[in-house]
Amino acid sequence: MTALNLINVTLDYPDGEGTTTALNSVNLTAHPGEFISLIGPSGSGKSSLLAVAATLIKPTSGLVMVDGVDTTALNEKELAVLRRDKIGIIFQQPNLLPSLTAIEQLIITDHLRGASLRAAKSRAGELLELVGLGAAAKKRPHQLSGGQRQRVNIARALMAQPKVLLVDEPTAALDRERSESIVRLLVTVCKEFNVATLMVTHDTEFVPLSDAVASMLDGELTDPAPANQPVLLG
Ligand code: ADP
Ligand code: ADP
Repeated sequence: MTALNLINVTLDYPDGEGTTTALNSVNLTAHPGEFISLIGPSGSGKSSLLAVAATLIKPTSGLVMVDGVDTTALNEKELAVLRRDKIGIIFQQPNLLPSLTAIEQLIITDHLRGASLRAAKSRAGELLELVGLGAAAKKRPHQLSGGQRQRVNIARALMAQPKVLLVDEPTAALDRERSESIVRLLVTVCKEFNVATLMVTHDTEFVPLSDAVASMLDGELTDPAPANQPVLLG
């Protein structure tokens, strides 16, 4: 089964007298454990694609399948449950709660989903170890570096064992070395947890670390191509 499948997805935003077509008949398939980079100039539709894949915006037409479920047929309540259980989202800014320690950031998301506190603690501890923050579990966001905060963010997104990981410019606030280590970490968790990962990035430098790369231009998406080959834009 594919983890994420966009079929003929079109998204029009209303503007003034007409519409802006942000996504134009986009097709994309991501399998479990597959890491796809998404590149393209500003305004080409990358954020819109992530928002539609995250089921945060309904497409004007087309289908968004997540783990075999046609999300365009779900109501808001069903969508909220699907997002919580199946989709991990990682944005550029980690958005951690300032008063909570690293491990509490993770525990609270799981506990809110109904997991027992004991199970949530145990999984949170394992995930912090995995992202290299075992020793920083009790630190609060202001005591962590930018790279460490992004690692907490990644660990938090994995708490629900999602099928799909959507990542938007995770390295925009980091220097080159830390950026590379964050992308490498994302590739590692993609494989380790068999989660389909779609990463929007400006850093074409790290694209070869992914399995495939697709590029957007004016709302159109190329088919994913092997990431170690040059990509032709437009
Ligand atoms: P990217 O992430 O590649 O910069 P976006 O998905 O943000 O591209 O934007 C794609 C197109 O949709 C652009 O023309 C942008 O101006 C337009 N757009 C994005 N968000 C909105 C919105 N909320 N309302 C109207 N137009 C939008
Ligand atoms: P920063 O340099 O901003 O603290 P990094 O993302 O470079 O952030 O590293 C955060 C923490 O993760 C550091 O404590 C580092 O020792 C650890 N770390 C870095 N790379 C790895 C890795 N590949 N595996 C496990 N732990 C790592």
